[in-house]
Amino acid sequence: ASTSLTLIISKWKYLIFRPDGSKTQTQADLIVGCDGAFSAVRKQFLRRSRFNYSQTYIPHGYMELTMPPRNGEFAMKPNYLHIWPRNTFMMIALPNLDKTFTCTLFMPFEEFEKISTGDEVIEFFQKYFPDAIPLIGAATLRRDYFRLPAQAMVSVKCSPYHIGDKCVLMGDAAHAVVPFYGQGMNAGFEDCIVFDEIMNQFNEDFSAVLPEYSRVRVPDDHAIADLAMYNYVEVIQFLLHMLHMFFSNTLVPTLCFGFFLVFQVTFTRTRYHVAVERWHWQDKVINRGLLLGAVGAAAGGFYLLIKNPPDINKLAITAEKIWNKMADLKTPPSVGAASQI
Ligand SMILES: Cc1cc2nc3c(=O)[nH]c(=O)nc-3n(C[C@H](O)[C@H](O)[C@H](O)COP(=O)(O)OP(=O)(O)OC[C@H]3O[C@@H](n4cnc5c(N)ncnc54)[C@H](O)[C@@H]3O)c2cc1C
Repeated sequence: ASTSLTLIISKWKYLIFRPDGSKTQTQADLIVGCDGAFSAVRKQFLRRSRFNYSQTYIPHGYMELTMPPRNGEFAMKPNYLHIWPRNTFMMIALPNLDKTFTCTLFMPFEEFEKISTGDEVIEFFQKYFPDAIPLIGAATLRRDYFRLPAQAMVSVKCSPYHIGDKCVLMGDAAHAVVPFYGQGMNAGFEDCIVFDEIMNQFNEDFSAVLPEYSRVRVPDDHAIADLAMYNYVEVIQFLLHMLHMFFSNTLVPTLCFGFFLVFQVTFTRTRYHVAVERWHWQDKVINRGLLLGAVGAAAGGFYLLIKNPPDINKLAITAEKIWNKMADLKTPPSVGAASQI
């Protein structure tokens, strides 16, 4: 049990529940709700009018499994992103400072639910991730798979992020995103930077800072939520399929998801909504380029056809051949031919 907090918005007080069962009521000048994707503070916002809110769960869940060190060293090379793509699901492994790897299995919930015994876990790993069994350890796998149920991934969008000059949401409490863009934590840190900048700009006057923070931050956080969902739906699913086809038993070194869009927002202060605008602009340019190319090719072909007209007699023979081929197809095959198929 840990210390938990509940907010009573009407009185601008919050209640602290301690593990020993005691509770304290405290008043605050400013309440910052940074209590994660299932925020208790945000729940209080939902009781007020003119608060916009939406949440979307994706069909995949995730489960974290630990790969211990081997002889005091990492069990696999640490400077690589280790990924086991398996069509509709995947496992990735990321190194930790204590020389363990955290292996995260992303998989549709219905697949997780098919596995209910230790033997089924080993069977599943033998089928899809055989090389991971000796690295994680069969006994550990049997135990850890059932330690916690698969966790849900939710994308939350809301606005505004503040109530008056008293309360503000930050991090996942304001904008939980699906983890396929690697920006959830970064977006939360950026909330803090932006908030700090606005605090300086408005001399720490909460009545001006909080609405400005919502005005500036909501479009960017909504944009990163969209980008992350786009990566989940389009890029990751596509990559998983392609990687599965070409490298189903290989560790892929330093793989970058999301192509250049990722580079626009990673290690930069490019605003997320600006990156999305640039992306749509690039799409438009590429589509127009493709359209122009197609029109050019058609016009060129037409011009060549007019300049060097084909022999009409040869064309007629070709047309006759096609017609005969189609007639052949319509005729049912003999019994011998059918059984061969
Ligand atoms: C599988 C996965 C992979 C991810 N990978 C990346 C990545 O590569 N890069 C990246 O940038 N982000 C990543 N993220 C997202 C990142 O983990 C989150 O965006 C980040 O942890 C959010 O931080 P937070 O402080 O807002 O919320 P949290 O980390 O959820 O912290 C909230 C805290 O509030 C506490 N709390 C909750 N309710 C109460 C209450 N009522 N009273 C008191 N305390 C409470 C919780 O115990 C917790 O300590 C990933 C997320 C997942 C699920």
